[in-house]
Amino acid sequence: MGENIDDYLKDAMPEFRQQLARLVAIPSSSQEPEHVGDLLRIVQETASIARGYGFTTHILQSKGDPSENFVAGLVATLQVDPNAPWIIVYNHLDVQPEGEGWLTKAFLPAVTDEKIVGRGATDDKGPMLTTLHAVNYLRAAGKLKVNVALVHETKEEAGSTGFDKLIQESIDQQLLPTPHSILVCDTVFQGDNPAISSSLRGLLAAEVTVTTGTQAIHSGLGGGIAVNPMNVLTTVLASCYNMATRKVNIPTFYDGVPRIEGEAKLNLQKVADGFDLERYKRDLRAGACYRQSTLDALRRNWFEPTFEIHNYKGGLEGTKIPPMASAQVTMRLVGQQDPDAVFAYFERHLHHYLAQLDLLNVKLDVKKVKGSRAVSVAIDNPYVLAAADACEVGFGRKPVYDGCGGTIGALPVFQERFPQAPIVLLAISRVDDGYHAPNEEFKFSQAEKGVKVISDYLQRIATLPKLQP
Ligand SMILES: [Zn+2]
Repeated sequence: MGENIDDYLKDAMPEFRQQLARLVAIPSSSQEPEHVGDLLRIVQETASIARGYGFTTHILQSKGDPSENFVAGLVATLQVDPNAPWIIVYNHLDVQPEGEGWLTKAFLPAVTDEKIVGRGATDDKGPMLTTLHAVNYLRAAGKLKVNVALVHETKEEAGSTGFDKLIQESIDQQLLPTPHSILVCDTVFQGDNPAISSSLRGLLAAEVTVTTGTQAIHSGLGGGIAVNPMNVLTTVLASCYNMATRKVNIPTFYDGVPRIEGEAKLNLQKVADGFDLERYKRDLRAGACYRQSTLDALRRNWFEPTFEIHNYKGGLEGTKIPPMASAQVTMRLVGQQDPDAVFAYFERHLHHYLAQLDLLNVKLDVKKVKGSRAVSVAIDNPYVLAAADACEVGFGRKPVYDGCGGTIGALPVFQERFPQAPIVLLAISRVDDGYHAPNEEFKFSQAEKGVKVISDYLQRIATLPKLQP
């Protein structure tokens, strides 16, 4: 393997392609119980690659109900010097469900010279492997001056359930040293502008079920007497969101939502001035969109909460009045919004609204599915500045400091456990890779640039001090 990065990439990229194809072929979907065994398989496969690059690997498995636990995780360490600082590199090895609309098979990766197409290619297996190769390049060239601890979970797409336990067990078993910093490559950038994110939104997911009876009723004989649960569900959910004002109508919902004003607004305006919103919409494959300025679009995507309805169920028997209807709801959260508190506001509002409808024998159940707080990270510390300089080396330009509308449930856990360790959110994936979409892909040019950025970053941080919390 070459001492110089270009030589290394020339040698290593054919192997990179094969490794990534093997990883993508494992259907490690964390939201579908039938794939729970694949979560262990993807950890084992990744561990074997990491061992080949000098890591000591530990595979942790949880006991009990998989839907409430971390199932399988990888903690791997590569210590080059007992006195050198430790960095935690976080990635997730699980993927979204296959979904519809694929031109190729989601778990039969299609590899060309340019890219690989398959579920998980860019979110987050490609960036994970990119990081491993960056470490391997430095190690092989004798340039690795930081100790690296990999923390790979398999429940990110399911809300990082049990991640706290994974970290606790790793600490208890003395597998995980206290890090000086944490690197996360699980966000995206637009066009040719590399990005370092300063915030991610939190997430509250809930399920709402309305039950009105035990069997379907003829809508002619019963309509006007019997209550339709689909109508009830639609009515109570519609009361939560005003599409005209684009505001969530749940009382006290906005407690803890910061205003974007002053310098923050000026910064956002600067990003908006260089942001191609139309291209972003195309990359997202977005059809209908809100009519708004680029500034408002970014503000609402990064710094405001949302209310979205998904997966309506019920009314499967033609035009009969069904006995039951349900839907899922997600709310992206920002600032200090607390998922448990927001869930309580939501539940109280639905029951209150239903009571006003004055109906007989309607049963309303609201269940919290998952919750995670919003995260903001400082972008004015030497670690972020080092990452910005590394972007110039690897991507040829300074990064944009953006927000991210998505959620990584592991980050609040890291912030609680290691408050002194700055988290750097360095994007390797691009918006047009199709996170969570059909035909998800990862471009090998991104991998090559990513290896350059990350290896440069790891060299820069070797001499940085430990920060105070
Ligand atoms: Zn991800």
